[in-house]
Amino acid sequence: DDDGKIRLYAQSLAKQFQLEVHPEYSPIDILADFNSDFPFWFEGDSPIQPNQIGFEELVLHELTHGLGFLSSWSNDYLEEDSSFLTPNIDGIFYNVGDNVESKSVLVFRGFLENAFDKYMILTSDRTRTTELTSELNKFLDGQDKIFLSVNEFIAKFKASPQLNIAKQMYKTCTEANSIEFLANTSNSKNNAVILETSISPFRVGASISHVDENLFNSSDFLMTFEQVLGRTLEDSIAAGGSEGGKEKAIGPKILAILETLGCVPLKIIITNQKLYY
Ligand SMILES: [Zn+2]
Repeated sequence: DDDGKIRLYAQSLAKQFQLEVHPEYSPIDILADFNSDFPFWFEGDSPIQPNQIGFEELVLHELTHGLGFLSSWSNDYLEEDSSFLTPNIDGIFYNVGDNVESKSVLVFRGFLENAFDKYMILTSDRTRTTELTSELNKFLDGQDKIFLSVNEFIAKFKASPQLNIAKQMYKTCTEANSIEFLANTSNSKNNAVILETSISPFRVGASISHVDENLFNSSDFLMTFEQVLGRTLEDSIAAGGSEGGKEKAIGPKILAILETLGCVPLKIIITNQKLYY
């Protein structure tokens, strides 16, 4: 990254940089599963019912995550529902079910952020959370980084001075209005967008990786964590006060975040029948 740190970029995002030299790409950019047991509403169905989920809005929401709208700070890399947060832990092996391979040897290579994490700040004092990651990465400075098991690693981390930083981050990320995304685009600098931190206890996948829930009836409804049921994409756009077609599904704050991450100005065309990206 341009600040000298290594971060994880979604392949869908990395491809947009059109790098002359790039890692080998996976054949798939974004993989999303949708559970057909849910009462989805599709374009052309009879009028949407109060319990139905507008499918187009859901797909667009998940694709936006797939473009890199996702923080890596989580409380389940080491054990479930722990009371501290860290970015990805480089060195942990996960087995098929995404569970930690607890018995394998762990060679700790550091806490590794997603691209999204580069732009997060604490509302209270405008500290960039990437500075907290730098502090966390002082863990094991000059010490052995090889562990015989994940449990051994956990014990070492819990006894370290870095634990407090991780605990403080948990506290921050479970209090409303505590974390913002600092968006920088061609026409707006330091445009802060409040992220979702009102969920307590912390919920992996929901907390931080969305905009504040209070935006559900705004033009930036798309990336709140709970989709409003009984609302088609067009209803949601209208509820947010935007006029125009489905291209208005991505509001100004969401666009600013995507552009900051490095998405080239989005060309999303949604016709009555199909959604193209
Ligand atoms: Zn989501």
